[in-house]
Amino acid sequence: MTRELVKVGIDIDDVKAKFMETLQGWHNRRYGTSLARENIRDYDFWKIWGCDKDEGLRRMREFFQSADFEAIEPIEGSQEGCRELARDFDLVSITYRPVSSGKQTLPWINNYFHGLFSAVYFANLFPPYGTIRKKVEICREAGVRVMVDDSADVAEECYRAGIGVVLLNTPWNESRGLPSGICRADDWKGVVPAVRRLVSL
Ligand SMILES: [Mg+2]
Repeated sequence: MTRELVKVGIDIDDVKAKFMETLQGWHNRRYGTSLARENIRDYDFWKIWGCDKDEGLRRMREFFQSADFEAIEPIEGSQEGCRELARDFDLVSITYRPVSSGKQTLPWINNYFHGLFSAVYFANLFPPYGTIRKKVEICREAGVRVMVDDSADVAEECYRAGIGVVLLNTPWNESRGLPSGICRADDWKGVVPAVRRLVSL
């Protein structure tokens, strides 16, 4: 009989993929801004872009259709880190990307993280693509024990639901006060041992 592996959820954007800097680079060229990853203190992009929410979401949908989105690069250490974790755990990807991005997302995962993830779940944050799902609900349904994410909201919701959380530090989450049980990591060198520690608790 094979041992059932502990399930670990790993976000895609800004955990495995250089989403924010790619998005802002695209936005700078397309809309004449001069923003870098360090400037992003808020996940409500439209506030930083100086437009309203509808226009911000429209630009996001435009970005999801762009060549820049398709060419997004993996974050330093994420491939090695996932390869290491996949030896001991069942890894699943849980992303806010829209379901419709599957045609870019699934080949991307297959290309950079080949064979390391048993499933990809789309929480579909950007309407009007369909129903938005909470990552914590996906974690619960899928039986995820530990979640790795860069969103402070996701971290807090998962933590309160009894799921272990590793929050990758970013400019948009670093000033947020969070329960002390949430582990923060600066990079993937910190993520791997933090996941192991939480699983063993
Ligand atoms: Mg993310």
